[in-house]
Amino acid sequence: MTQKQNNKKITGIRTKLLIYMAAFVLLLIVILAVFQFVLLPKIYKGTLRSQAKAAVNSICSVNSDSEDFEINVYECASKYKLCISVYEIRGNLMREIVQAHTQSVCLIHNGPNSDELIKNIYLDTGDKGTYVTEYTAPMSSSEGSVFASGRVINSDGTEMFTLATLDIQPIDATVQTLRYELIVVSIVMLICAAVIAYFVSRKISAPVVRMNDEAKKLAVGDYDVNFEGGDFRETKELAGTLNYAADELSKMDTMQKELIANISHDLRTPLTLISGYSEVMRDFPEEITPENMQIIIDESARLTGLVNDMLELSRLEGGKRELKREDFSLTDTVLETVKRFAGLTAKNGYAISEDLVPDIYVNADKTLVLQVLYNLMGNAINYTGEDKSVNVKMELNGDVCRVSVSDTGEGIPEEKLPYIWDRYYRTGDYHKRGEVGTGIGLSIVKNALTLHGAQYGVSSTEGIGSTFWFELNVLKK
Ligand code: ADP
Repeated sequence: MTQKQNNKKITGIRTKLLIYMAAFVLLLIVILAVFQFVLLPKIYKGTLRSQAKAAVNSICSVNSDSEDFEINVYECASKYKLCISVYEIRGNLMREIVQAHTQSVCLIHNGPNSDELIKNIYLDTGDKGTYVTEYTAPMSSSEGSVFASGRVINSDGTEMFTLATLDIQPIDATVQTLRYELIVVSIVMLICAAVIAYFVSRKISAPVVRMNDEAKKLAVGDYDVNFEGGDFRETKELAGTLNYAADELSKMDTMQKELIANISHDLRTPLTLISGYSEVMRDFPEEITPENMQIIIDESARLTGLVNDMLELSRLEGGKRELKREDFSLTDTVLETVKRFAGLTAKNGYAISEDLVPDIYVNADKTLVLQVLYNLMGNAINYTGEDKSVNVKMELNGDVCRVSVSDTGEGIPEEKLPYIWDRYYRTGDYHKRGEVGTGIGLSIVKNALTLHGAQYGVSSTEGIGSTFWFELNVLKK
């Protein structure tokens, strides 16, 4: 199955968002419906009960002898649309002392068997606070009644019984209206959700679609791409990352092409010499001279050196090279390297001077430190000026010893300094003395010193020369 067919099976942002919005709206509708059909009657009855209870509490808190008593009863009745009766009990006698009648029909004032009902509620009330009950036998237009009652003993010893009642009105008509309203609201909400989902998904998916198109170009090797992230932080960040990746890929591509060109050029020179001299010696036996043989040996050595350098760098960069630390004399190692280079180059007029600190010992990977010294000195000899002088210097600063290799060459332009440590980087296309170089030497230096956690650097002045240095921690004696 192709990628395209696979992708078709996966839902897009637009559809997903629409589904999520629809699910959200449905959830809202369900919550609304539960409130309207299940909780509404309960909430309504609860409100009636608490209104009746509040009225009885208010009346019971005022002494029946007080001046405000009657006014309070009427106010409570009109405030909550209640029918209220207050009775005075003396022995077996129950006498109504105040009556507030706000509903045309109520069970305590004009309902059937009201005396018996009042007596029963009086007995049920007991003397513990306010008693609330419901009487479900419907009156003509109501679904029943709510009663609240309370008994208190006045300061004069008489007992007062307050009874308040309220009709439970049928809420079917209200629920019917709400149901209709709910259907209309649901349809409107679903349409709104669809419209919002459409626009939001377009806004979200547009930059993703655009980036995908650009990424497809990138996949076929077109690095002239520009990712735009739209208005969202995440897509903007993604676009930034992709632009950076495209930039890096493009650099890598250029570097790879340059590398192949460099390597083929650098390998071709010794190979041409080797095959040329070998053919001559095959065809003209008198040409089999030690000098010609030496050229073949030297060129083979250059080839080996080049290939070894490449392998060493790939091992260092790939993290496969582990440090083999040992204690050794840095002074002796630097001196040996200087002597070796001096011996090799003296006949060509090179003057290698040294300025060493005696008895400096370090704990490091000796092979790598030697490699660093070789590469830095090799470069210094390769790039030094007409006076052909190179200086190697050691300086002790506290626990740290700095080794510097200076030459008197043309130096390195400041803008190129940050790149000379990059692999396969060369400041010019030519090599000053036709030496083999692939732009690997300083990369190996950088990787070897980084592996040691050592400081390193370069200072260079155009026309005056360059100084490459590195620092190693000194072993205490
Ligand atoms: P190469 O094999 O080309 O010398 P390096 O990695 O050793 O590779 O150096 C990278 C580049 O840095 C060189 O091509 C050269 O341009 C520059 N460079 C290195 N050492 C010196 C130096 N001592 N003087 C001037 N330029 C230098």
